[in-house]
Amino acid sequence: MTVRTRFAPSPTGYLHVGGARTALFCWLFARKHRGQFILRVEDTDEARNTDEARQAIFDGLSWLGLDWDEGPQAGGAHGPYYQSQRGEIYARYFEKLVDSGRVYESDGAWRFRFERRPVTVSDLVCGDVTIDYTDESNTPDMVVRRSDGSFVFHFVNVVDDLEMQVSHVIRGEDHLMNTPKHLQLIEAFGAVPPAYAHIPLIQNENGSKMSKRDKGAAVGDYPRQGFLAAGLVNYLALLGWSPKTGEEIFTLDDLVQRFSLEAVNRAPARFDAEKCAWMNQQHLLRMSRQDFADASEPSVRAAGLPVPENFADIAAAVQEKVRLLSDVPAALEFLLNDDFPGEEETVAKVRSNAAALTWLASLPGHFNAVSEWSADAAKAAVAAAAAEHGVKAGQLMFPLRVALSGKHGGPDLGAILSLLGRERCIERVRNFVREPS
Ligand code: GLU
Repeated sequence: MTVRTRFAPSPTGYLHVGGARTALFCWLFARKHRGQFILRVEDTDEARNTDEARQAIFDGLSWLGLDWDEGPQAGGAHGPYYQSQRGEIYARYFEKLVDSGRVYESDGAWRFRFERRPVTVSDLVCGDVTIDYTDESNTPDMVVRRSDGSFVFHFVNVVDDLEMQVSHVIRGEDHLMNTPKHLQLIEAFGAVPPAYAHIPLIQNENGSKMSKRDKGAAVGDYPRQGFLAAGLVNYLALLGWSPKTGEEIFTLDDLVQRFSLEAVNRAPARFDAEKCAWMNQQHLLRMSRQDFADASEPSVRAAGLPVPENFADIAAAVQEKVRLLSDVPAALEFLLNDDFPGEEETVAKVRSNAAALTWLASLPGHFNAVSEWSADAAKAAVAAAAAEHGVKAGQLMFPLRVALSGKHGGPDLGAILSLLGRERCIERVRNFVREPS
C-alpha cells in the first residue's frame, strides 16, 4: 500500500507551531515510507479565510523544508486541493447518502443517521477509543449539510480523505473524538477507512493549552527571531516524538530515518522556548564557518553594520557564543565598528583599577614591537608586558578584553586581537587608558 498523508489546515490565522508539528509528522511519515504528502486547504469557512493565512501556510511549510507532492501550486491527480472548489464532489457523495437513506431533513438541515451501536477507533497513538451510539439522546444524528446548502467539517473532511486516497490521517488529538463519527460516515459510503494517528496537544510552559495567540506560536515569527529552520524542525519533532535513546539533535534527513508513529507519546508535549533556542544553538554550532557567516550576514546588514571582506572570520569568532542569528549583530558590533556600546559597570570597574590602567598603558609599546601581527604574537606581547610589571599574563587578559570590547565576555581574546589588527588594538587601549574615570 502506498502511504499517503495530508496536512489539512484551515487558513484562518497564521501557521502555528501545533499545525507545523502536525505537518512535520505527516511529512516525515510519508517520506520515510516513500509515499506522498498532500496539502489540502480546508477553506470552507469563507468568512474567516484570508489570503495572508493561506500564504503563511505555504511560506511556513516551505521555510521548514516540508515540500508537498500534491496540493496548491504542486497540482496532482486528486485536486482541486482547496475545499472551496470541491462542491461537486461533495454533492456527489451527499447523493449517495440520500440514495441509501442515511440522511434525512430536519429543520431545513440534513442529518446523518448514525448506526446505533458502539464504534471503536484503533488509533496508532492513542489505542482503542470507543463511542457508544446506542443511546440516541447522548449521540443525536449529526447535521452533515446545513440549511444554506453548505457541508459541515466532518463531511468534507471524510470525503476528501477518501477521494484523495489518504492512507494515514495524522492530526491533533483535538480531533480524536470526531473520529468515530468519521468512521460512521466512511462505512455509510461503503469505503475502507484510513489508519488514524492522533498526536498529543501542545501545552504552554504553565500547562495551559497552547493557542494561536500565545508567545512562540506563530511559525512566521521564527525566521525574524533568528531561528534556523533546522533548529525549529528539530524542536518540533521532539514535541511528541522521542527517539527513546536520549539523543536530541537531528537534521530533517535524520528524522526521516528515525521517525515512527509507535514512538509518538500519548502525553501532552510542553513547549519550552528556552529549549527551542538551545536547540537552535546546537544547529548553529554544527554549521560550517562559511554557512554560519552566510546565515548571519542578513541580520548584520539589517542592523546597519558593515560586512567587511573577512566577515567569515569575524563571524566565526562568535559562532559558539550565540543561540539565535539575531544575537549575532550585538555580539559582533565591537569587531565591525569603532563606535560600539560597552557594559557600563564592567568598564567602570576596570577604569577604577589603577594597576590595570598602568599595565594597559604599557601595552601599545609591546604591540608595536611585534614583527608580524597574529593572535599568538599579540598574546606573546601581552605576556611580555605582564613580565615587565611582574604579574601573570592572565591578570592583564581581563582588563585588555574590556578595553578592546567593552564587555566582560565574548570571543577568545586571541581572536579579538588578531581580528581587530594592531592599529585598532593600540588605539582602543590608548583611548581606554586616556579617558577620565
Ligand atoms: N481543518 C482541520 C483542522 O485544521 C483539519 C483536521 C484534520 O486534519 O482532519 O483542524
